Amino acid sequence: MNAPALLCLALLAATVTEPTPMPVAAPPALVDVATVAPGIRLDIRYATAKNFTGRALYPAARCLLRPGVAERLARAQEAAAAQGLGLKVFDCYRPLSVQRAMWTLVPDERYVADPAKGSRHNRGAAVDLTLVDASGKELPMPTGFDDFSTRAHRDYDDLPPNVIANRAQLERLMQDAGFSGLPTEWWHFDADGWERYDVLDVPVPR
Ligand SMILES: [Zn+2]
Repeated sequence: MNAPALLCLALLAATVTEPTPMPVAAPPALVDVATVAPGIRLDIRYATAKNFTGRALYPAARCLLRPGVAERLARAQEAAAAQGLGLKVFDCYRPLSVQRAMWTLVPDERYVADPAKGSRHNRGAAVDLTLVDASGKELPMPTGFDDFSTRAHRDYDDLPPNVIANRAQLERLMQDAGFSGLPTEWWHFDADGWERYDVLDVPVPR
């Protein structure tokens, strides 16, 4: 065999024996906020019948979010704790199938995002929450969670001064951490850049 042919065989052998790279594990799509910010209190209403549908829609009371969104929420919790307060969340990631179930029960876009469009909650990039004091007691806010009246609007101002101040404090803490409030719901915040995340339909684990 001549020299070029030997070289050719050697190259072929090098190609065949080259180890295939190990697959890199994909980062998790969602993280449980309890592992990132254990101080955050949970009152996951859709895991109970205490919500506007009157039914439990999640199998477990968990707050799941995109990892980057959960880190921002952890920063908001740290800032709240520095003021002697804390965050209490009502809803985080919501599977698209649950969005469809809500829509079947209440097919009204004033109350429920059309599943054909998807909610920002379906992207793991939105959170519903309020402020609590050091003992865990909720601070007075304009309405309860999922109160779909104009009183829940962020610009509604026919309220006691302490309620306006509490709402503003929650908004400031969330904005500083990288969230923007929904104009019609004082409790709802979208992570800035939410549109970069896809709609998901992985179930909430038990
Ligand atoms: Zn919401």
